[in-house]
Amino acid sequence: MKLTVPALSLNESFVRSTVAAFCVSSSPTLEEINDIKTAVSEAVTNSIVHAYGSEKGNIEIEAILLCDCVDIVIRDFGKGIANIDEAMQPFFTTRADDERSGMGFTVMQAFVDDVKVKSEVGVGTAVSLHKRFEEVKC
Ligand code: ATP
Ligand code: MG
Repeated sequence: MKLTVPALSLNESFVRSTVAAFCVSSSPTLEEINDIKTAVSEAVTNSIVHAYGSEKGNIEIEAILLCDCVDIVIRDFGKGIANIDEAMQPFFTTRADDERSGMGFTVMQAFVDDVKVKSEVGVGTAVSLHKRFEEVKC
């Protein structure tokens, strides 16, 4: 699946629900669907808030569904992350003024099986999420 949406907060729930609907045919549990929605929501929100801020831009979402897992990439073309390791630390945020808690990446890591981040300053960021469906027998 490929989806491109403008980086607007109203699109966050659309993307989260669309990715969840895409996964349903592999029969994940309701809890796994909710985990995916939570992680996707954090990544998309980061693109809206941090990558673009008040600028306009697009977010691309790609998902590949296999029998017992899904791979999802959320990509933006915004400002990028200078230090990825630092950004992924719990409670690290560059927007404390905006009531951000710095827990988005930590939440993603808690709710899916693998999180990978690629980013270049001035070019953009790609967050890859991998989720296994534990009860599915292929
Ligand atoms: P919270 O998610 O708890 O509201 P947060 O968004 O600041 O707070 P994280 O989601 O963990 O916390 O992100 C940590 C930091 O990484 C952000 O403050 C921001 O500096 C940077 N960051 C994350 N995603 C992006 C992105 N797509 N583009 C640019 N910077 C990003
Ligand atoms: Mg965040």
